[in-house]
Amino acid sequence: MGNDVEFLLIGSGIGGLTFALQVADYGSVAVVTKKSHEESNTNYAQGGIAAVVSDKDSFQSHIEDTLQAGAGLCRRKVVEEVVRRGPECIRQLRDWGVQFSERSSEAPTLSLGREGGHSHDRIVHASDLTGAEVERALLEKARSHPNIQLLPHYLAVDLAISKPTIRKNSAGERRCVGAFILNTESGEVKLVSAKVTLLATGGCGHVYLHTTNPEIATGDGIAMAYRAGAVVANLEFMQFHPTALYTPEARSFLISEAVRGFGAVLRTRSGKRFMAKYHPAKELAPRDIVARAIDSELKQSGEPYVLLDLTALQADAVRQRFPYIHKRCLEYHLDITREPIPVVPAAHYMCGGVRTDLHGQTSIPGLYATGEVACTGLHGANRLASNSLLEALVFSKNAAHSAVEELKAPPLASSMFPLWQKAGSPNHEEWVLISHDRHEIQRLMWDYVGIVRSNDRLQRANRHIRLIASEIEEFYRQSVVAEGIVELRNLAQVAQLIIRSALRRKESRGLHFDTDYPERDDRRWRRDTVLRQVKKS
Ligand SMILES: Cc1cc2nc3c(=O)[nH]c(=O)nc-3n(C[C@H](O)[C@H](O)[C@H](O)COP(=O)(O)OP(=O)(O)OC[C@H]3O[C@@H](n4cnc5c(N)ncnc54)[C@H](O)[C@@H]3O)c2cc1C
Repeated sequence: MGNDVEFLLIGSGIGGLTFALQVADYGSVAVVTKKSHEESNTNYAQGGIAAVVSDKDSFQSHIEDTLQAGAGLCRRKVVEEVVRRGPECIRQLRDWGVQFSERSSEAPTLSLGREGGHSHDRIVHASDLTGAEVERALLEKARSHPNIQLLPHYLAVDLAISKPTIRKNSAGERRCVGAFILNTESGEVKLVSAKVTLLATGGCGHVYLHTTNPEIATGDGIAMAYRAGAVVANLEFMQFHPTALYTPEARSFLISEAVRGFGAVLRTRSGKRFMAKYHPAKELAPRDIVARAIDSELKQSGEPYVLLDLTALQADAVRQRFPYIHKRCLEYHLDITREPIPVVPAAHYMCGGVRTDLHGQTSIPGLYATGEVACTGLHGANRLASNSLLEALVFSKNAAHSAVEELKAPPLASSMFPLWQKAGSPNHEEWVLISHDRHEIQRLMWDYVGIVRSNDRLQRANRHIRLIASEIEEFYRQSVVAEGIVELRNLAQVAQLIIRSALRRKESRGLHFDTDYPERDDRRWRRDTVLRQVKKS
């Protein structure tokens, strides 16, 4: 990898790759990613992409559904922009080679699924493997572009921010000039300088014990941006997916919302349907309501799971619509056409993140963010299902447009580049400490900062996390930089930010439910929770 590029992109999911394909004709692009290319949340998305592509649907309806889910915190302008750009994004993906499911081979119109909170069928999908199909096509396209370098096993440790006094022609502006990147195979860290740096690092599900996210989702982008002094917002709004497969030993695996859209019903372990008690839309109620309903049923019964039942549906249709879920469940000796699926809620999607404007620009010049790491104002206090892939597409395109303009500025002076100053020695106890602390954070967040919160539990979590985080920071300072400790430090940072945000919001809204403040209070709290670390110049 060269040390110097026009565009440095951190992350190779839908956010990073869409941006790469839009800017590659204008300059050199390095896409660093900490594992293999395709390992990303994108690759695991099942349900699909929400877009108004049917005559029976309307932009207005998609806009209203998004605003309704967002519980008063969506930015209307952003919602309108994203929804109206949906059809264009689907066309672009098809042009790039994404094969979506069609209704039948005789009638090649897109097959549209329905998910909770949507009042029309509008989920464009590739059976239940939409994310993998999108990732495949984008990677193939990116590989064929001569200006795009795809760099697996390179981990961004921290952003490189210029000192305010060094920059000529601008009054003390701090600017992102690239990032410090660790080659996880050789252990070497170097500064990769860039005129534009994009954070497309995805989510942070692994801050919780149970999550649907793959292991890459450790909140690195949020933590790096916060340390660099960027504004982060709305981190109390973690979406818990209501239905992840329950197995005592295995990592959670998502059972898509589309399964409920297809007609599956929720039952207690003793076979009773219960959603009618919680919402008139029953199983198709918004996710937060379904997750809280399941949480409440589990707390009342003391059972470890509830059941998601598809057995009344036609077996062939189930196998055809959900081949991946059917196959994965068979690996656990569960035939979903004959037996109900044991499910529990799990951390799924972070609605907050690094705050951006409509062009994906963060509060630090030179630094952009798109995809799950960003807080654009689309989701507000709760994401409408399948709006996130769409958001990543629209914002990556917008951000690319602005980023290309940045190339017109004068070249970065070498005096702007900060030095990598971290030393440290190998620590052979590292793995024990890392896995212990990681588990402690995940357990703490699950028990005290989960689906239902209270003042007392949040205060307790705050005290504990401060202690854990300061020990981890000390450990980070002393040891050589390596993937495990970098991720642990980021998890601790993000956990702290989630707790601080949750403590600030003295009401219940969307995904944040606090038993001490059970009502929504629009008069005082209809606003974002904004955090920023003040940097000394
Ligand atoms: C199981 C599951 C199902 C989902 N289903 C849907 C759905 O049906 N519809 C929908 O709209 N959304 C869905 N989502 C959400 C959606 O998939 C994600 O929000 C979206 O894919 C995020 O894309 P992204 O590009 O922002 O991040 P990701 O796709 O997660 O990519 C992040 C990238 O950043 C890299 N990275 C992270 N940290 C670093 C670092 N420090 N250094 C270098 N690289 C780094 C990772 O390796 C990865 O390449 C689902 C999510 C999950 C987990």
